[in-house]
Amino acid sequence: MTQAFSRAGSAFLLIATLAVCGPAGGQSSKDNTNKALDLITLEQLEGHVRFLGSDALLGRDAAEAGYGIAAQYVAERLGSMGVEAAGSDGWFQSVPLRRYGIARGSADFVIHRGGESTPLVYRDDYSMSADPVRESSEARAEVVYVGHGVHAPAQGYSDYDGVDVRGKIIAVFRGAYYSSSRTKSLEAVKRGAIGSISLRTRKSEARQTWASRKDRIGRRPSTTWINGDGRAARYYPELLVGAAISIAAAERLFGVSPMSYEEALEANLAGKAASTPLGVEVSLSARSTHSTTSSPNVIGVVRGTDPELANEYVVYSAHLDHVGVSTSEEDEDKIRNGVYDNAIGVALMLETARAIAAAPPKRSVMFIALTAEESGLLGSDFFVNNPTVPMASIVANINLDMPLFLYPVADLVAFGSQHSSMQDIAEKSAADEGFVFSPDPMPEEVLFVRSDQYSFVQKGVPAVYLVTGFNSTDESVDGEALYRDHLKNHYHQPSDDIARPIDWESALRFARAHTRIGLAIGNDEDRPTWNEGDFFGERFGRGSRDEP
Ligand SMILES: [Zn+2]
Repeated sequence: MTQAFSRAGSAFLLIATLAVCGPAGGQSSKDNTNKALDLITLEQLEGHVRFLGSDALLGRDAAEAGYGIAAQYVAERLGSMGVEAAGSDGWFQSVPLRRYGIARGSADFVIHRGGESTPLVYRDDYSMSADPVRESSEARAEVVYVGHGVHAPAQGYSDYDGVDVRGKIIAVFRGAYYSSSRTKSLEAVKRGAIGSISLRTRKSEARQTWASRKDRIGRRPSTTWINGDGRAARYYPELLVGAAISIAAAERLFGVSPMSYEEALEANLAGKAASTPLGVEVSLSARSTHSTTSSPNVIGVVRGTDPELANEYVVYSAHLDHVGVSTSEEDEDKIRNGVYDNAIGVALMLETARAIAAAPPKRSVMFIALTAEESGLLGSDFFVNNPTVPMASIVANINLDMPLFLYPVADLVAFGSQHSSMQDIAEKSAADEGFVFSPDPMPEEVLFVRSDQYSFVQKGVPAVYLVTGFNSTDESVDGEALYRDHLKNHYHQPSDDIARPIDWESALRFARAHTRIGLAIGNDEDRPTWNEGDFFGERFGRGSRDEP
């Protein structure tokens, strides 16, 4: 408490000094950086978290009133720090959201084999993808099995060798490392497929049985962004229909010839491409219900000091939305406050903005509080597809999502930093605040592709996603156990609220390290680069085959 008080006092004096001298007032830039970092205080951080995580905001569900108040709060705070509004409408960039689902009783899936037609049963046998744009969808076509639907000529592998899927419906296994459903859909569209049927492996069935999820099929609408010309996130209008089927239904779809489902599973396990037409036709149809709403990203900018480099941007991002109010009978407390997910990330970003506004680097620095992350990275995906500054002028993304301060933290992890020149910067920034720099402790979770930084990566922008590691400075603490307990028992639950332990001192040092990363990139002569031969750089970076 006393330490916090003296920090607040010195911060006040600093603001006065900076206002008189200006950030370049003859002192070394190192002094300026330190003074700017000292503007970040524990009580400011805690104040943001208490407000954004309060019951009054009802879990900040995108497009709900609580989120709107949170967005207003972020804009107000940024404005008070001297950050300029940089949305498309003042501070805001409205993201048009479409909710869409399958109209009740409209789904239809029939297998046609040798003059015989066998209908499948909705929910028992299959789920159907609703269409975010079209009100009704239908297609009848032959089915071609294409394994994982992967085309990787560089690895000497293709599931598409020797099969023609033009005008056909593909049957494809979900998953495969580094092979997002986006990449697969793009490949299918490029080859002229008109629909897809998603297959389950024994492994996916073991993780979650069809029986345990079938009653929830089609009960809740999906959400995507949609713009005026009917473009929607991850939407491929060429794919007229889409469904997922149970293993029992897949056995019926495959039959025995030319290949049984069992044989497909075996080839799949052996990593062999075994693509083949199944000698069967299917007809799929459904009607979709639509409703449209919107929710804003909040965007501010601190202008760079170098006349040239000010036209380039370091972009900080943190999602502001969370999952709203629980409808579960079991939850006594129904408000999912999202204190860690991601009130704390936004709070840290706000304090970073405060420091950076006081000591602007050569490049401009943009701050984006993102909407609809919880519905599938929609706010960030909308931003990178409808950027308010040219995408090519964005040199780096630094994202925050759910850093945990459950114990005095000893180490930081920067997901994604190993792919680019940002590794050294992140490591030094962590060390400057007394943190050890650790490698990804949970590579199996592939977290780098699971939060908003991935939207930037897909447009070729090098990114880091900074989180805390498993190690505590208190040796009696089992950090990993506490971390995993949070993921298992509190993540997306009403208990992710202000009653969770928060080591504010660690949060403060984290905010400082996080700020140092942006300042270092902002002042560097060169913009960050993907490492030579890096997977993400090759795929998405400048000059790559997927470059937009
Ligand atoms: Zn979340």
